[in-house]
Amino acid sequence: MKKFNTIPLHKDKRIALVAHDHLKADLVEWVKFNKVLLSHHTIFATGTTGGLIEKVLGTPVLKFQSGPLGGDQQIGSAIVTGEVDFLIFFWDPLAQAPHDPDVKALLRLAAVWNIPVACNRSTADFLISSPLMDEIYPRMVADYSEYKNRKI
Ligand code: PGA
Repeated sequence: MKKFNTIPLHKDKRIALVAHDHLKADLVEWVKFNKVLLSHHTIFATGTTGGLIEKVLGTPVLKFQSGPLGGDQQIGSAIVTGEVDFLIFFWDPLAQAPHDPDVKALLRLAAVWNIPVACNRSTADFLISSPLMDEIYPRMVADYSEYKNRKI
């Protein structure tokens, strides 16, 4: 049987926000609309997205590098170390991004660590309105010890 470890998502979540250029206005609008719901969570973002969101929230956002300059990878790394546990990523399905591999890597790590991810506005709406947003959620993460101790 598959084994899991439980890593709690606390009431105050550590949310990373990212939007590709054509979707930045959408994310800013979404943040504006959900400002109160977001207020007790810690907000992280890629550089340019973060600058825009900061203006709307009126509070400092923890900004990583701009996405194409490594920001997506920094968020991925923060997911691995447990500093980020929630991702809202408005990515553009109609544009080729120079950092496509980084986008894929970020979404992959979100799956590896089983954190909630919204890749579009509808999902973001469902997540933000979930009662679990304000509760401790026992996030089940696959027990990777078997993988780490595999025979080489
Ligand atoms: P940006 O990065 O917020 O710095 O524009 C977003 C991205 O393209 O990943």
